[in-house]
Amino acid sequence: MFPCSPSKPSVVITTRTLEYYRVMYLRCPRLSVQPFVKSLCDIHGVPFKPYLSQQLTICFDLYLNILSKVKLRVHKALERTDLHWRLKNTCPACEYPLENEVKLKFSMMCCMDGNDSLKRLERRYDGINEDGEVKAGPSNERLDERIGGQDYFLSNEEVDKFGKAVAKTIIEELTEKDSPCMPRWKNMDEKATASMWGIFDETGVFLCLCRHGFALVFADMVRSGEQAKYALAVANLLMDTLGKDLAAGYDIGCGFEVTISKSTIGTKAKEMCYTSLVGTFHGHAHCRLCQVDHLGTYVEGNGLEDSEGCERFFSKSNALASSVRHATKFHRRQAIAAFAEHIDDFETYANLTNFLHNNYVQALEICGDYKNLLNDMKLLGIPNEGLFKEWLAEEREYLKGLKQEPEEETVQMEYYQVLVELERVEGLYKKINEVWLITEDPISGVDHTLELEAHRRHTTEMRQDLKSRCQLLERKLGISVRWKPGSDEWDKTKLMVQRQCYRKCVDRLESLIVARLFELSRMHRAHTGYKLRKHMGKALQARSQAIRTALANYNDAAAALDPPGRQLNWESVVECTFLADFDLLCDVRQDVRDQEWADPAKRVVMDRYFKICRAREEIQRLNVEIRRVATYLCDEEAYLLQKEKELAMTDPDLAHQIRIHRHRRGRFDEAHWKQLQETANLPGFSGTLKPGVGQMEQEGSGDEEDIDSDIEEADKEYEELEGIIQVSQD
Ligand SMILES: [Zn+2]
Ligand SMILES: [Zn+2]
Repeated sequence: MFPCSPSKPSVVITTRTLEYYRVMYLRCPRLSVQPFVKSLCDIHGVPFKPYLSQQLTICFDLYLNILSKVKLRVHKALERTDLHWRLKNTCPACEYPLENEVKLKFSMMCCMDGNDSLKRLERRYDGINEDGEVKAGPSNERLDERIGGQDYFLSNEEVDKFGKAVAKTIIEELTEKDSPCMPRWKNMDEKATASMWGIFDETGVFLCLCRHGFALVFADMVRSGEQAKYALAVANLLMDTLGKDLAAGYDIGCGFEVTISKSTIGTKAKEMCYTSLVGTFHGHAHCRLCQVDHLGTYVEGNGLEDSEGCERFFSKSNALASSVRHATKFHRRQAIAAFAEHIDDFETYANLTNFLHNNYVQALEICGDYKNLLNDMKLLGIPNEGLFKEWLAEEREYLKGLKQEPEEETVQMEYYQVLVELERVEGLYKKINEVWLITEDPISGVDHTLELEAHRRHTTEMRQDLKSRCQLLERKLGISVRWKPGSDEWDKTKLMVQRQCYRKCVDRLESLIVARLFELSRMHRAHTGYKLRKHMGKALQARSQAIRTALANYNDAAAALDPPGRQLNWESVVECTFLADFDLLCDVRQDVRDQEWADPAKRVVMDRYFKICRAREEIQRLNVEIRRVATYLCDEEAYLLQKEKELAMTDPDLAHQIRIHRHRRGRFDEAHWKQLQETANLPGFSGTLKPGVGQMEQEGSGDEEDIDSDIEEADKEYEELEGIIQVSQD
């Protein structure tokens, strides 16, 4: 039983109740302390009092504290006390290398992203500013030195090493030359992250997962929408602990690649062959040149990884949002870490072999398309597969070559437009001078003199303005004879203006669709409350209208071109099937339609080919991972059993705790073996379940001293509390 205060406690809570609450909370994070206490009150037949919640919180903290001490002792007994042991060993498929296995291009694949649903409201006094308005006052939170979050959280100091000042200047220096998507991202981030910093202290978490979904590391995002420093800190930690050849997906992976190369860890990242990828879903929003370099489909070694695992994690962790919003710093981190640990062991680990199986099935299916691909290639007259790579390279070169219009052309176009406008105004001017004499409407008798006079004055002014602009531009362009309609220059420039107008339509349409994609992705993040979702639904509708208009404009402009451009329809816009082709649509200067790789039918075949390449890599990776998991299942069980046996005589309690620890993941072993067997029976399976020789890591590292003292302390407390633990075991 746990007392609610160190001396003269008035309330005690049984271990069983606390354990019950702990497990319930992890399965249903929406259940906060208060409703639980209320239910207890109902059962005990007493009225609810608010202080009871407080008392349960105290007991619960105490209980969790004991659990973590027990865990520490278990880890000590298992020789797993290295500071980053969990980070290095959490995923058996990624982090359990075997001897003599095939070397993969990426040793480990992960993904990272930030999310603001796990933000925390700081408790503040009401304050009043100079203008007498009520606003948030200074913090009135009690000082709590506990940090919480176990080994899941990256410390704020670690993050601040890549402080805002550093990261920000890097971002600002980035231009379109560094990363073709840069202008796009700059605009997008600012808007989303502006206002709310006043009230939220921790404004969310930055998360990194392995490709199977095991949580590697969290970082608190503190009053800063600037994600660069979190991503840098995470990448740094990953390289330090997990070593070479890492690949990490990030929704702005393209920009991050440049950021990292310009940061203090730039050389390290290069030496360690750190690769930055872009998630498949977010990839659609990137420009084509960036996709060619970063999108999973074209990155060698990527397999079928979509690098979007964070979205899936966040959709689960959103349930946690309401209970951490008003919690203290410590409780928030404690809750997030406990939740992550729970998801790791009871969801991700439980589904691990299932994940591998599904990927295997999918990869085999894609590879099965190879025969059809060869057929289609024959039909389209594509002699060999090597051509696809050449096409991709050609496309990259071409896209790199797409430049802004030369300045002179821009001025010429302006000049042309001024001339056209001038012609219109001249016509108007002439007309007005003709009607000058009739000042009175003969029928109604109203005098129009003043009105006409004003109109005439305006037209004269306009004409004067245009004339002087015309002269200015003529001086700039060195034109001595004013262009006339029908002349060579006139027609040439007219064509250029038409094309520019067309390009503007393409740009407008593209930006609308990209924005729509983002809103859609946000809609899927469940933390957006009902109201916001409704609001966004409306915004999307409005946007659809805007897209329709932009589409109509585009089609008109395309038709006006000579030769006419490609027409688009609503369906293809909604499905974003051609987003990748936008940059091709844009170009009317060089006729890309003659290029083989620009032929839509051939592009589809090319993408299919690359997909098959990736599926083959996926199978190779899965074969490695499946064998690792099989080996891990054997080794881990044997190791834990042996330790348990060793301690059974000298320290039976600890041996018991090790058994509990073994059972935590071990409960899924049977299901895992069954699933693995099923995978092995797939027609086309090319791996093996025969366990290899694992490299069980047992050596501790330099941080042991700290932990030793911690453990001594834990030992002492543990002995005092042994009785309590004993009760809980009954
Ligand atoms: Zn993994
Ligand atoms: Zn990009």
